[in-house]
Amino acid sequence: MKPSQFERVPVKFKRTPTLTSRAKSDVLVIPLYKGKKKNEYAAVIGKLESILRHPIRTDDFKGECGETLLLYPAGQKESRFLLLGLGDPDKMSAESIRCAYGSVAGSIKKINASHANIIFPQVEFLSRKDILKGMVEGVLLAYYRFDEYVTHKENSDKLKEISLIGIESDDMKYVDHVRNVVRGVYLARDLVNRNADEVNPRYLADAARALSEQYQSVNTTVFDKKRLEGEKLDLILAVGRGASIDPALIVCEYKGNPDSKEVTAVVGKGVTYDTGGLNLKKDMLTMKCDMGGAGACLGLILAAASTRLKQNIIVVIPAAENSIDSKSYKPGDVYTSHSGKTVEIGNTDAEGRLILADALSYVCKSIKPSQVIDLATLTGAMVIALGSEYTGMMSNDDGLSDALIKAGEEVHERALRFPLIEEYRKKLKSDIADLKNVSGREAGSIKAALFLQEFITDVPWAHFDIAGTAFLSEAGEYLPKYATGFGVRLLMQFFENKEASCR
Ligand SMILES: [Zn+2]
Repeated sequence: MKPSQFERVPVKFKRTPTLTSRAKSDVLVIPLYKGKKKNEYAAVIGKLESILRHPIRTDDFKGECGETLLLYPAGQKESRFLLLGLGDPDKMSAESIRCAYGSVAGSIKKINASHANIIFPQVEFLSRKDILKGMVEGVLLAYYRFDEYVTHKENSDKLKEISLIGIESDDMKYVDHVRNVVRGVYLARDLVNRNADEVNPRYLADAARALSEQYQSVNTTVFDKKRLEGEKLDLILAVGRGASIDPALIVCEYKGNPDSKEVTAVVGKGVTYDTGGLNLKKDMLTMKCDMGGAGACLGLILAAASTRLKQNIIVVIPAAENSIDSKSYKPGDVYTSHSGKTVEIGNTDAEGRLILADALSYVCKSIKPSQVIDLATLTGAMVIALGSEYTGMMSNDDGLSDALIKAGEEVHERALRFPLIEEYRKKLKSDIADLKNVSGREAGSIKAALFLQEFITDVPWAHFDIAGTAFLSEAGEYLPKYATGFGVRLLMQFFENKEASCR
């Protein structure tokens, strides 16, 4: 993996102070509210009003959120105007802006534009930052494409520059910040979308090393097979035994506040391909996404380092391919975890909780962080429970849980807290070992979290089950089909909120 892959966002932003001072471009995006009154323009547009009056009077354009209409005006600096509906002015939110500008990306792709002028909208109830964030994220998150394996690339990354008309010079710093966070999202998506044959444990380790080559604030240590054996991370070794590439534990540390001893550990499940193991899956078509947690972790480090976040984060990725082979770990056998607890393997397809168990136990014992967060495409039960709009979260700490949910609401990566129901803990008991890794379908996501909790020592901890949100079978408003990069924006917002409260 080359550091150039961290520069995947093709678009640069610049500021244009006024509408009249704008340069030539392929398209001018004009924001409008829903409604037919005179104040429907969401910006001062001066003389342009005469061009727009007609299409609006015909009722061909209603201003619904995300609605677009392309016009071809004569004698303007752009050959096209794109009317953009922002929806009802009383119902505006950062998310509605994100959705509206997501549809701008679709139009830009269609017309093959390389430069776009976009007018900054005036929104009564939102801060300038919220508006900017919605605009920049909306366009960039939706503009993402993964076409590495397409030989005939159409309009690939044609868009080079966006001029934001009417923003202030101070705003550019924040625009850059948002763009850097999206770079983290792109990295997370790329890691998931690329072939699982390529993105194996070694590739994830190389990506982490490349991050530390690129940023002085990042340090990477990779535990190879020998070190895993030495550290007694036997569950990670067991899960990875059937694959031709050895498993690894990747520790990637970002030091944004060297004066502080506080550090948050973020653990990401890195099953680079999940066949189910000897309990072979019937359908594994989407199983390259089983390292979505790991992808989000490395995306987080890129976002944190490139925005110079003033927090300390240690990302820990247990990486393994769950494959079938004569060496594969076996259902019914008992393995000893890093913590010393023994685990009976009820099903080799419940491998995520095994590698996470060892990683969490290692983190608690050796790193001793102030708090632990994990991200994992862990259970199919979570997809059934919440689908792709909400992520299930479980935690042993109300403060941490509330802060994460708040951050998620702010960036529309929403999470719902599930209870850790004590009565179900006894279902994890084994007759032949201390624990077993499966125990029936009922409350499957909660029992998986209870299993992980067995390896958490006295530290605030939150577990995100991102099985439904990391990978989509169809595109959303601004989320592409396949990998979403879920978690990067949520965690960045969480750390930014934390940083703001320390000031
Ligand atoms: Zn599995």
